[in-house]
Amino acid sequence: MANRVFDTVGQVWAAGLCMGCGVCAVVCPTEAIRIELDPRRGVHSPGVDLHRCTGCGRCVDVCPGTDVQFDELEGAFHDGEHRGRRLGTFNECYVGYATDRSVRHDGASGGLATALLCQVLESRRIDGALVLGMSEGCPPRTRSILAEDASTIRKASGSKYCSAAIHEGLGQLLEREGRYAVVGLPCHLHAIRKLEMMDAEVKEKIALHVGLFCANNNSYNGTEYFLAGRRIRADRVRAIRYRDGGWPGKISVELTSGDVRSFPRATTETKWYRKALFTSAFHYDFAVRRCLLCPDQTAELADVSLGDPWLEEYKATDSIGHSVAIARNRVGQGALLAARDAGAIHLDPFPVAKARRAQNYRFKETVGSRLWLRRKVGFPFPTYGSRPLAVHWRAILSSLRYLPSYVSHHRWAWPLIRAIALAHYVQREFLRWLKVPIRAVLRGLRLRTVSSEGAE
Ligand SMILES: Cc1cc2nc3c(=O)[nH]c(=O)nc-3n(C[C@H](O)[C@H](O)[C@H](O)COP(=O)(O)OP(=O)(O)OC[C@H]3O[C@@H](n4cnc5c(N)ncnc54)[C@H](O)[C@@H]3O)c2cc1C
Repeated sequence: MANRVFDTVGQVWAAGLCMGCGVCAVVCPTEAIRIELDPRRGVHSPGVDLHRCTGCGRCVDVCPGTDVQFDELEGAFHDGEHRGRRLGTFNECYVGYATDRSVRHDGASGGLATALLCQVLESRRIDGALVLGMSEGCPPRTRSILAEDASTIRKASGSKYCSAAIHEGLGQLLEREGRYAVVGLPCHLHAIRKLEMMDAEVKEKIALHVGLFCANNNSYNGTEYFLAGRRIRADRVRAIRYRDGGWPGKISVELTSGDVRSFPRATTETKWYRKALFTSAFHYDFAVRRCLLCPDQTAELADVSLGDPWLEEYKATDSIGHSVAIARNRVGQGALLAARDAGAIHLDPFPVAKARRAQNYRFKETVGSRLWLRRKVGFPFPTYGSRPLAVHWRAILSSLRYLPSYVSHHRWAWPLIRAIALAHYVQREFLRWLKVPIRAVLRGLRLRTVSSEGAE
């Protein structure tokens, strides 16, 4: 494990490196840590009771915010044959979906996570699964659940693009006898793997790790800003599904009045300004700040990683959903193939070249530049072992686009954030248009040079 720079996770939070996963609270031997939702920032945060804290440092040791030693952790948990800069270590890539049509339809992409977890549970290889559901109440909030039956797993399907702490479900998992699966974001798995390195009993207990691809997560303020743009007050919302009704799905919102309203996601939105505001809410301006410093897009420490196939061929024809699945080790591959053989999922091989193209990796590939900038301004920064992270001046400049995420918890800043989002969108589209004639002129010039060289 890396050297400890912080004494408690309270300091990690103060340094802006906490992603609110909540795993620190589960390992504290004196129950000195409480995970609470910071209502202003819209993210989960650890509160440390210093009277109870003995300074043992276990909370910092499992914290994925301070460091993730990818080499060491991959060495301990993976036996994948291939290694790629974008995909991490893996054995095989697949594309597939749940054979149960309603699971597929309700899932974020192809319902593979839900179908896989249900099949592993029903075949009695696990006693339950740690999943993330939504609590009742206005506005609804995420709640980690230790699901011990298939219907609870199904109810928790779908992605939640808002703060997601897993301490409640994980705490129950650690207290009970039996073997379990966990599903989570890359950062959740970073913390769980770190915990498994510290505690062999936990390693034995968690039989399957399902990871979700993740460019970034968002604070609840992102959802509220999105809703405000549609003239909906968050406290009038009874339920929300971020990916509802097939693929890529819509955001559907059930109001306290009983009305249900649906809104397209950025990929299917036709109005440019709404597209710009969607990306502002869920990609740039309300990103959990720690996500700006994370290099892991494909949940590299999972046994199986799942994501969307963002390729034209799927975008043009698929309306129910497929999930890309990366089997990273024998455990992951065994689980996928057993679920396929049992008829719970359909699985096709997916060429690695396609898996590499199925995501936009630009955000993660520019993380080195954001880390560099953070170091230069003297802020604490996380470390990732010997992972090479490139620094590029253009990426340093474009990282300025994420500055609004530092002030987006102030509502007074929202009109300004909206204006920046619209201006950024127009500028990006304009440059995209401009590139076409510039490329044509350059191509013409090159042709003329080549033909005049030929004439000589
Ligand atoms: C914040 C976030 C960012 C993502 N970014 C990308 C991306 O950039 N590219 C991409 O291809 N895919 C991304 N995904 C993953 C994608 O949305 C799907 O989750 C994935 O394709 C699996 O879909 P599925 O239909 O197989 O899963 P489902 O059958 O719908 O099951 C999803 C499972 O994930 C759990 N879950 C949902 N949300 C969370 C959460 N926030 N934290 C922990 N567990 C959760 C649920 O409990 C459920 O068990 C992201 C997901 C999230 C939550």
